[in-house]
Amino acid sequence: MPPTPSRQILLAEDSSSQRAYLKELCLSLPDVVVHEAADGSWALQLSRKLPQLDLVITDLSMPGMDGIELVERLSRQARLPSLLLISGHAPELLSNCMRAAKELGFTGIGYLAKPFSDDAFLAELGRLLATISPAEQVEYGMPLIDIITGLAHNQFCAFYQPIYDLGTGKAVQIEALARWRHPNKGILTPGHFISMLEHEGFIQLLTNRIVQTGLDLLIRNPAARDLRLSINLSRSLLDDRECLDWLVNQVEARGLEFNRVVLEITETMAFADFGHTLATLLRLRMRGFELSLDDFGTGHTTLEHVKNLPLTELKFDRVLIKDIHQDTRSQSIIAGMARIARELNLRMVAEGIDDENDLDYLCQHHPDIELQGFLLCKPVPAEELHKHLYPCCQQRSA
Ligand code: C2E
Ligand code: MG
Ligand code: MG
Repeated sequence: MPPTPSRQILLAEDSSSQRAYLKELCLSLPDVVVHEAADGSWALQLSRKLPQLDLVITDLSMPGMDGIELVERLSRQARLPSLLLISGHAPELLSNCMRAAKELGFTGIGYLAKPFSDDAFLAELGRLLATISPAEQVEYGMPLIDIITGLAHNQFCAFYQPIYDLGTGKAVQIEALARWRHPNKGILTPGHFISMLEHEGFIQLLTNRIVQTGLDLLIRNPAARDLRLSINLSRSLLDDRECLDWLVNQVEARGLEFNRVVLEITETMAFADFGHTLATLLRLRMRGFELSLDDFGTGHTTLEHVKNLPLTELKFDRVLIKDIHQDTRSQSIIAGMARIARELNLRMVAEGIDDENDLDYLCQHHPDIELQGFLLCKPVPAEELHKHLYPCCQQRSA
């Protein structure tokens, strides 16, 4: 079923009376559908199931997963909803949360300190809903049947985003990022299909395709001859022994060295079921795969935890990199993490570099951190890779 043009609102509030009241207020606006959750985990689960989500209204204090963690977890989804934060805490705290949400990449953000009037709520709601463009609404969250049909028709491929080593000034690695060459909508990014595939249990179909094309690229494309390949793995695949055996076979069948393949996992994946995950990661590491912790710095992982995993690489998330040239807090965090990562002999990658000043800062202070970001190169189709073995900002690599 195609997504409806209604605005989809997710309301996370632990007090049932407050929730019912806010829902009624929301429904007083036209063309609105409200989904309810009593805590952050529930809200997060719902957000993954909904094919379209335009606005999340969340109380910041809730038992279990609170509103702040919810916002942080939502920020990892590729298409970010607008946010309305509500709280009985001091307004400074609310405005700090708003700042954090901005840093995490959200654009439509509002906040209200309790108690607030119906008018204030409706005004904020109206303002946020007005910022959602209809084009976005219909494009987001493609129906499963379309995605499966697209996979069957070979419409999915990977784009590759290089990771550069400042020392040599060259690409040393490429990350495979799934893309859908949609017959009518053009190139669609993972936000349109990954959550749906993960949720419905079909992610392996996509990963198989990405792995096969990525490994073929390593052996067939002269531009990729010396490069490592990063593959993003979903949580469910770590529990799938057959899938991991298949992966091993694919690498062996092409006569590739295992250490040219970097498997990226995220913090949430790594620590969801630690004992089991650790065993799987050890097995993969013993085969020779490289293992990377993606989006590092967005969750609750400490370096104490990191040292217990058989990792070879840490990828600092773009929230830590953004504005690092002027944000002394990010500077100290990265400096501390980099020091420990060096002690643990982990390769470091900074992702999401899209600002000249941040690039300058990293080049000057952390020349051993490898770099990835739109400023250096956007994800490109395989056939264009040869043009991007050196970053756009080549003068820095000297
Ligand atoms: P990720 O693995 O953290 O990949 C980085 C994302 O940041 C990519 O988004 C990339 O295009 C984007 N990016 C890179 N440089 C910059 C920059 O300078 N500025 C900004 N604003 N963004 C930048 P993309 O391609 O939309 O992928 C989103 C997420 O989808 C990925 O995040 C990854 O978690 C997931 N994904 C992609 N391909 C696959 C796949 O084959 N399998 C699985 N399970 N997940 C995948
Ligand atoms: Mg990644
Ligand atoms: Mg990442």
